[in-house]
Amino acid sequence: MTKIKNIFIKLFYVIKKKIHNCVIIGSGPAGYSAAIYAARADMTPILFTGFQPGGQLTTTTSVDNYLGFPDGVSGNDLMKRCKKQAERFNTKIINQSVNHVILSNKKGGIHRIFFSKEKCIESRGLIVATGSRSRFLGIYKEKQFIGLGISFCATCDGFFHKEKNVAVIGGGDTALEEAIFLAKICKIVYLIVRRNNLKASKILQNRILKNNNINILFCSNVTEIIGDNFLEGIKIFNHKTKTNRIVLISGLFIAIGHVPNTEIFKNELDLDEKGYIIVQKGKTITSKPGVFAAGDVQDSDYRQAITSAGTGCMAALDLEKYLYVCAE
Ligand SMILES: Cc1cc2nc3c(=O)[nH]c(=O)nc-3n(C[C@H](O)[C@H](O)[C@H](O)COP(=O)(O)OP(=O)(O)OC[C@H]3O[C@@H](n4cnc5c(N)ncnc54)[C@H](O)[C@@H]3O)c2cc1C
Repeated sequence: MTKIKNIFIKLFYVIKKKIHNCVIIGSGPAGYSAAIYAARADMTPILFTGFQPGGQLTTTTSVDNYLGFPDGVSGNDLMKRCKKQAERFNTKIINQSVNHVILSNKKGGIHRIFFSKEKCIESRGLIVATGSRSRFLGIYKEKQFIGLGISFCATCDGFFHKEKNVAVIGGGDTALEEAIFLAKICKIVYLIVRRNNLKASKILQNRILKNNNINILFCSNVTEIIGDNFLEGIKIFNHKTKTNRIVLISGLFIAIGHVPNTEIFKNELDLDEKGYIIVQKGKTITSKPGVFAAGDVQDSDYRQAITSAGTGCMAALDLEKYLYVCAE
């Protein structure tokens, strides 16, 4: 009897509630790009902005490598333009974070997206574009100086330190790649490594040794950021020799890892060992039918605005195809 009652309740719920075709979680380049493509394909997308409307780019002053802006553009301006473009095609924007999701295992099944305590939206299609966040050192002035000398991306900000001295923190692949990139344009690159060895691949270690302007400081931690209005230097503590030293630099690149924003998908989607959403090669298809992932949340390699926007487009096109097949 209770079983039958539950079926009726579920049926009533499904008839009463509007089932959407496209919900997008995230308002970075991936989310807005997906929204524009989905809206233009008549999927009437609903987009959740989350805790950081506009995404990571809103924390940077100048974006010089995004296509179509020959004079560069501020991260905030770029993301305001993306939002405006998505709204032009009637994307419904909800300024809330998604708390949790219940994703269907069935083809054509309904995914439930919960926000603002008990509110829930149901949709056949879901695009996850929740991005990632950089790991911080956790020292004073670190957050305050982002964009004022502190950066998490050498490809993005290295150019501002041409012919100057900079430092990179980290001993993994990303840190070494950042250091090699910077060594081509900067005077001296200090590579600050906490351990007494590098954990990066041997190929990168060999490439590092070929650069005579990269100065590796092992067993070292940055303990202080020096500067009033912008970064002027750092204090480094060598925990082997128990000595402090100050190096004067204009740029500090923190490369101690990224954390994908996938906490709410932990028991719902297949994630890799670092927590990134696993997608099919060359696609945005995840482990659940009707759920697609775009941008940094599924990409631990490139992590660029343009690649995020590209995969946002792919996710919308993949979802359009999926809905078409389900309707057949
Ligand atoms: C300081 C800095 C400077 C950079 N400079 C450049 C540059 O010059 N050029 C370049 O190409 N790249 C740059 N990058 C990298 C670039 O910002 C990222 O690659 C890009 O923003 C990733 O886009 P995304 O859409 O995947 O995610 P993000 O931009 O990370 O956006 C993620 C979105 O998801 C939302 N979200 C997360 N969880 C939830 C939730 N539970 N519910 C709802 N919403 C949620 C967030 O609020 C956010 O809106 C920079 C990054 C940083 C940090």
